This record gives sequence, structure tokens and C-alpha cells, in this order.
Amino acid sequence: MGPPGAGKGTQAKFVAERLLVPAISTGDIFRVNVSEGTELGVKAQGYMDAGEYVPDELTNLMVRNRIDEDDAGRGFLLDGYPRTLAQVEELDGMIRHTGHALDAVVVLTVDSEELVQRLLERAKSEGRADDTEDVVRRRQEVYEEQTAPLIDVYRERDLLIEVDGMGDVDEVTQRIFDALSGVTES
Ligand code: AMP
Repeated sequence: MGPPGAGKGTQAKFVAERLLVPAISTGDIFRVNVSEGTELGVKAQGYMDAGEYVPDELTNLMVRNRIDEDDAGRGFLLDGYPRTLAQVEELDGMIRHTGHALDAVVVLTVDSEELVQRLLERAKSEGRADDTEDVVRRRQEVYEEQTAPLIDVYRERDLLIEVDGMGDVDEVTQRIFDALSGVTES
């Protein structure tokens, strides 16, 4: 978890590689669907372009189908999901159904000035449609309103690991590995 621009996608790939599990990014799956013009992509695009969350029913179904795939059989890392309280509950049900347990929830913390800088740079390098200034601002608000409360939920469950997301990508990756060592041994 972490606000837009915290580095979730970048770090998720490194961590998943190390743990030999797939990184499942709901944002990436939506973007592929948008670019391929699938029914899901058509439904999701308006929300994404406005910086709003795609409705829970669509998002939950997509994740459910993805974690049922073979490569997720021995575990998986979710990037950008869950993002709402309803998604937390849905994920609990999905995980029960797969026989897995949630090992840890990693939150990347980054100060807001740095976030804006990162997103503006990403806008230039990747050209993401939702990295314009207004949409970035809206995405930050939606995160604060709908996703930040999940931090307390997972803290109460004793699953939360907060990692300083400032600094070089490699340093942040190392901090995550250090914080996860022990948790992922089992
Ligand atoms: P991301 O790449 O994780 O920043 O996601 C990009 C966009 O995809 C978000 O701004 C949402 O519109 C949509 N999205 C990704 N994950 C979710 C989710 N878990 N719930 C609802 N919408 C999502």
C-alpha cells in the first residue's frame, strides 16, 4: 500500500521476484484492458481517467479470477489492492477460499512534496493518462479518503509493516526485504 507515487509498482516487482510469486497489479491489469479495448477496459477507463476508483464489484471479480490462475497457487503479492474497506472484506473471503493466509501488508510512506515530484516525472517518462495535475490531486484525495483508513485495519490485525519509501529505489527495496525477513520464511 501507499499513496499514488509512493513506488508500489516498482517495489512490488522486485519483492515478488525475490519471493518467487507473481506481482498482481490491479492498475496494470486495468491498463492492459483499456489498451486492448476489452469490456472491462471500456467500463474502467472513465473512472481511471478521472482519478476515481473503479467500482468494487468489477475490481473484486478481476482479482478473484487472477488469483485463481495457476501461477498464484503458491502465493502472490498484491499491488494496489485492496483499496477500500469492501475490498478488504472481499479479499479475506478470497484468501480463505485459496487456503492461503495474508502474511504482511507493506505500506510505503513518502512525503507529499516528493510524491508530486515523482508523479510529474512519471508523467513525462511514461505518459500515463492519469498523471495530469488535476487527476493526480484527485487520486491523492481518493487515497486519503478511501484507502488510508485501511492502514489502521491492518495495524490492528498485526499485519502492517511501514517502510520509509524515500530515497533511492535500491535502498527502499532493501528496507522492504529487511522488514519482511522473518515474515516470509514460513
Ligand atoms: P495504480 O496503477 O495502482 O495507481 O491504479 C491506477 C488506477 O486504476 C486507479 O487510479 C484506479 O482508477 C484503478 N484501480 C487500481 N486498483 C484499484 C482498486 N483496487 N480499486 C479500484 N480501482 C483501482
